[in-house]
Amino acid sequence: MMATTHALAGMVVAGVTLVVAPEHTPVAVAAAGIGGAFPDLDLYADHRKTLHFPTYYAAIAAVLAAVAIAVPSQFSVGLAWFFVAAALHSRMDAFGGGLELKPWRGTSERAVYDHYRGRWLRPRRWIRYDGAPEDLALALVLGGICLAIYPASIDPVIAVVVGISAVYTLLRKPMVWIVERLVDALPPTLLDRVPERFVEDFRS
Ligand SMILES: [Zn+2]
Repeated sequence: MMATTHALAGMVVAGVTLVVAPEHTPVAVAAAGIGGAFPDLDLYADHRKTLHFPTYYAAIAAVLAAVAIAVPSQFSVGLAWFFVAAALHSRMDAFGGGLELKPWRGTSERAVYDHYRGRWLRPRRWIRYDGAPEDLALALVLGGICLAIYPASIDPVIAVVVGISAVYTLLRKPMVWIVERLVDALPPTLLDRVPERFVEDFRS
């Protein structure tokens, strides 16, 4: 799933704050949006492993949520939502596609790494790949929920996030074509710096 879909999912879940502690809603929705996208910062490291922790984030989130309930403050609430959204992201990735340059081919059995179990979780492909039409559809639904539940002041943020999702979906396959041409044109010395999965897939 796209990082933006994860961000919107986190923001939807953070809507709980509207009911439980409405005064903390702004920090909750901001922290959940950032925490929802955060794991994908490992895109050029060991993607879906370095910053993806399906089990550990959930455990940290549970502890931080208890702290936020016991001692509610901007900081404790924000930190808890950051980890709840990051945990949700790491879990959601198992329902998407595999780790490969062209995930629509459905050849990879690696969705997201579970450090606790010490193994890769396999992709369920409910959303076939990040940037698939159904991924955009999910982003639109989640964005619609955000528009409905939150004050109008955050509407522009939601519109931008959904807009990025739409552009990404349009460019998803052309981007791979460009990456392939770039990798092809790279001198061998620079090829070492390209994340292995790009080169591996390209050579296969
Ligand atoms: Zn991810």
